Amino acid sequence: MKKVKPKVLFSKEEIQKRTKELGHEISEYFKKNLQEDDSLIVIGVLKGAYIFTADLVRELDVAAQIEFVRIASYGDNTQSSNVIKAPDLSLPSNIYGKNILLVEDIVDTGQTSAFLKKYIEEQFKPSKLVLVSLLNKPSRREVQIEPDFYGFEIEDKFVIGYGLDFAEKYRELDYLGELEGRLS
Ligand code: 5GP
Repeated sequence: MKKVKPKVLFSKEEIQKRTKELGHEISEYFKKNLQEDDSLIVIGVLKGAYIFTADLVRELDVAAQIEFVRIASYGDNTQSSNVIKAPDLSLPSNIYGKNILLVEDIVDTGQTSAFLKKYIEEQFKPSKLVLVSLLNKPSRREVQIEPDFYGFEIEDKFVIGYGLDFAEKYRELDYLGELEGRLS
């Protein structure tokens, strides 16, 4: 397969620096809410947030229990299909009533995060539910939702790398990039 070199939007070093800052801010926020023997429940949203979740939890200064859910909404397009497919929302019952950090790759239309927040609130009645997203694309918002913490705000462009894909490619890039010209 021909290798495409996507343009760098945020380098590996910029992402590392920002993730460290986020880890610190989120830890400070939760420290005052967590009891002595309590862990923060971190729920990463697969597949897009798998790398960000892995890096962020290593920057946290609070004990964490790591969980994942899996959502699919883009298919092979660069436009959200607006149909949320949730292949796996199973979470353990011991997260009930806890402090929960939901970790997204990007809040775009906001549909996915709004759906997940509602699902978690209804099913698990968390004492706190906080949303962190690596990227925030506010210009495309369709529902009223804002991440409590985010890494970078971006314009309306399609971003790949560092976990984010185009048709299941480019997730392994260690930076965030933008595909220029024809998407392939
Ligand atoms: P939503 O539109 O519901 O906020 O976002 C749904 C999902 O679409 C995100 O979690 C992400 O996986 C995907 N998505 C949104 N914008 C982009 C983008 O610029 N690049 C990639 N690769 N995925 C995106």
